[in-house]
Amino acid sequence: MSSMSGELRQAFLAADVRPTVQRYAVLHYLARNRVHATAEEIFREVNRRDPRASRATVYNSLKSLARAGLVREVVSDGKAARFDASLHPHHHFVCERCGEVEDVAWFELPAGKAPLGARQVRSFEVVFRGVCEKCAAAQSLTGETE
Ligand SMILES: [Zn+2]
Ligand SMILES: [Zn+2]
Repeated sequence: MSSMSGELRQAFLAADVRPTVQRYAVLHYLARNRVHATAEEIFREVNRRDPRASRATVYNSLKSLARAGLVREVVSDGKAARFDASLHPHHHFVCERCGEVEDVAWFELPAGKAPLGARQVRSFEVVFRGVCEKCAAAQSLTGETE
């Protein structure tokens, strides 16, 4: 717990963002739970712990954290955007059956191979899409075929 709050304080410091109570609550929730939550889910969770947290404050906190690079939008694919603490780099896998977003351990891509020209890259991530283990297992149980 104390190492977690220390890590968050460091992250706020490094990103040069003022750690308001709400911003801290939002980042803490995302970092601790390793979830990919929608803004509404984040609001409900933060508000459950601190009923003074209004929807507007939580949404604004989320926006400032995203601008500062402490939180990132994972995937939306036409659905509500999901957010993730970006303290630890990782890639994502999105299941096209159930919509579940899973973390994939970080790996580097061959440096210098990307056709980016003069673009300045701040960060990148790979999003894999397909069928998750659970859905694949359910599929083989029922013998369902495409
Ligand atoms: Zn699935
Ligand atoms: Zn993630």
